[in-house]
Amino acid sequence: MNNFTYLRATDATSAVNLLAANSSQGAAARFLAGGTNLVDLMREGVENTHALIDITRAPLSEVQELSDGGLRIGALVRNSHLAAHPLVRERYSLLSQAILNGASAQLRNMATTGGNIMQRTRCYYFYDTASRCNKRAAGSGCDAIEGFNRIHAILGTSPQCIATHPSDMCVALAALDATVNVMGPAGERSLPFIDLPASTAGFTSVYRKVRDRASYAFALVSVAAALKVDNGIIQEVRIALGGVAHKPWRATIAEQLLRGAAPTSERFAIAAEAELAPAIPRRGNAFKIELAKRTIAAVLSELTAREGAAQ
Ligand SMILES: Cc1cc2nc3c(=O)[nH]c(=O)nc-3n(C[C@H](O)[C@H](O)[C@H](O)COP(=O)(O)OP(=O)(O)OC[C@H]3O[C@@H](n4cnc5c(N)ncnc54)[C@H](O)[C@@H]3O)c2cc1C
Ligand code: SF4
Repeated sequence: MNNFTYLRATDATSAVNLLAANSSQGAAARFLAGGTNLVDLMREGVENTHALIDITRAPLSEVQELSDGGLRIGALVRNSHLAAHPLVRERYSLLSQAILNGASAQLRNMATTGGNIMQRTRCYYFYDTASRCNKRAAGSGCDAIEGFNRIHAILGTSPQCIATHPSDMCVALAALDATVNVMGPAGERSLPFIDLPASTAGFTSVYRKVRDRASYAFALVSVAAALKVDNGIIQEVRIALGGVAHKPWRATIAEQLLRGAAPTSERFAIAAEAELAPAIPRRGNAFKIELAKRTIAAVLSELTAREGAAQ
């Protein structure tokens, strides 16, 4: 491990100032939150920062109810706390389920909301400094494209990188239309992704994760879906996929084909087929295309059955 300076921020402003003061071109400081990803990367020599800014004392550990009925989640709210929060369980059970499908109880006790969003890919070649990896060393090549790529992306890939974003939590946040509020030296701005809007009332929702082992494994494919059916017609639907792309993949093509239609298995299959049509399979991950289609259809059938039972 390289030598590094350890600094502590007391609030968001001091964190941003310390980051700016300790970063120059090609040598960026890093925020340390739960450390469950960053410290591993430093141990492996993948992350060689010269300055760590510990942000864990900043007052960002609250889940706050907003006046419009939404929720604001602080960047330092621990994953376990967020999943167990009464308002999250009551109004956004999809988010709670997704978090509880990730990692282990011990890791969730340490991991934070901000760190979960910012965690790095789990591509094997990214972690192996002997491999070629454009993400780790720009322009060096990508050993995953012709290599062992069972866990890699099928949607939104580029000729330079086929890595996936590994988070479960973020798949639920994407389906819930969450917004992330970020702060930098130039001020604050909102990105579409961690205020949760109030608009999910009346939805039935579920998070399903398909993985190689029942626990302690990242998603091969996951689906976060929320559905509202009225008079035999799909009034609203939100679908996001995990394990298939460089970001949580909002299935907007499928959503469009489902809105206003009857919730039948034929329609679910058509929507899933259309969403996966642009997928690019590699030698090791072609199975993900069929897996994603079937998981989308199965989840929508489950939600429809639950909606029917509730009416
Ligand atoms: C064995 C193992 C299994 C796992 N399984 C899963 C799984 O199944 N599903 C899943 O979703 N995750 C899984 N994870 C990943 C885990 O969820 C992440 O490591 C964790 O969420 C990262 O949060 P952290 O607070 O520890 O981040 P850290 O490790 O402290 O930071 C991660 C990155 O985020 C940056 N960062 C942190 N906070 C902020 C902030 N507020 N603003 C800007 N940048 C910030 C850091 O600088 C760093 O680059 C697993 C991890 C391990 C080790
Ligand atoms: S897929 Fe991306 S992260 Fe993996 S080796 Fe290729 S460039 Fe690196």
